Amino acid sequence: MVLRLEKAKGIDIFMEETIALIDKLEAESRLSRAEWIALIEGRSPNAAEYLFQKARKWQQRYFGRQIYARGLIEFTNYCKNDCYYCGIRRSNRSAQRYRLTKEEILECCHTGYGLGFRTFVLQGGEDGWFSQEALEEIVHAIKSKYPDCAITLSLGERSYESYLGLFRAGADRYLLRHETADASHYRSLHPPELTLGNRKQCLYWLKEIGYQTGTGFMVGSPGQTAAHLAEDLMFLRELEPQMAGIGPFVPHHETPFAGEPGGTVELTLFLLGLLRLMLPSLLLPATTALGTIDPMGREKGILAGANVVMPNLSPTSVRKKYELYDNKICTGDEAAECWACLNRRMEKIGYELAVSRGDFPDAPARKQ
Ligand code: SAH
Repeated sequence: MVLRLEKAKGIDIFMEETIALIDKLEAESRLSRAEWIALIEGRSPNAAEYLFQKARKWQQRYFGRQIYARGLIEFTNYCKNDCYYCGIRRSNRSAQRYRLTKEEILECCHTGYGLGFRTFVLQGGEDGWFSQEALEEIVHAIKSKYPDCAITLSLGERSYESYLGLFRAGADRYLLRHETADASHYRSLHPPELTLGNRKQCLYWLKEIGYQTGTGFMVGSPGQTAAHLAEDLMFLRELEPQMAGIGPFVPHHETPFAGEPGGTVELTLFLLGLLRLMLPSLLLPATTALGTIDPMGREKGILAGANVVMPNLSPTSVRKKYELYDNKICTGDEAAECWACLNRRMEKIGYELAVSRGDFPDAPARKQ
């Protein structure tokens, strides 16, 4: 019916090609570079609806109507890096810097556990003030107190030995977005000391060590083309991560990209749908950045195939200071409000928050 309507408008060829590519992706779990580009450039609202229906079918086959919640603890906004897009880059002199103590972090976990969180995500800038030993102690303390919970780390690029030590201390998962899989695009988003090669190396180490590994990219970052996105999708196909975080680029007023346009809801949703079809059991968050550029962004993300949300568990007093981009949502709410609000939002669209670690469905047994 939809197809016939499009035919009447005389744009049937594009539409049919796009639909055929979506079918091919579902059947074969991969596309060539040229096909990815054609699919991204040829997308239309009708093609997106077709894609999202399929994405929801796979999402529900693996996860039912349960949405996994990860409690995000933003424990430091000090950072030695200077990524051009990021609000907590070291050159942002107007950022008010903070660090949480181990006790404050454990307090966040305590609150979160009571609410139903069974995964804690420790995220921060690359802050050398926390020694390897101190980080391992924090991970170990959380794990001892909450043995039924998963610990996810998101601390940027570190050495193999450091990742291994943290894994042995009890960390289960690691999030490290590759940001863009095109080397020259990577250079245009980062200072010269940061390279795509090293970022990828870290991801392969994390997988090798046994972490459930998450990567991902920003949608609509400055200079991004459909060809870059094709590279991102092909890199994900090759790495086969257990998680992928994608969200729109949102400009921050104190960065070199302050005046750049942000990514769109529409393209972010389309890519979420593609990811669900390509890697059907993938853990896929409907991100806070998506919720920031559209008040219904996270709901739309779930309906496009996402199955994870990451509400903030950081103390309210520091939330505004972890400002990666402008107008970040939920910075004034208590953790309990965040859980309740998201649960209501999920119920309205026929889903619910799960009290569960929410592991990757085919996760290998944890080897020590
Ligand atoms: N230091 C850690 C955590 C970074 S913050 C690391 O390097 O992995 C987590 C993610 O926020 C980043 O990976 C990036 O993709 C995203 N981010 C940063 N600035 C952003 C912006 N302006 N708009 C949207 N997302 C942004």
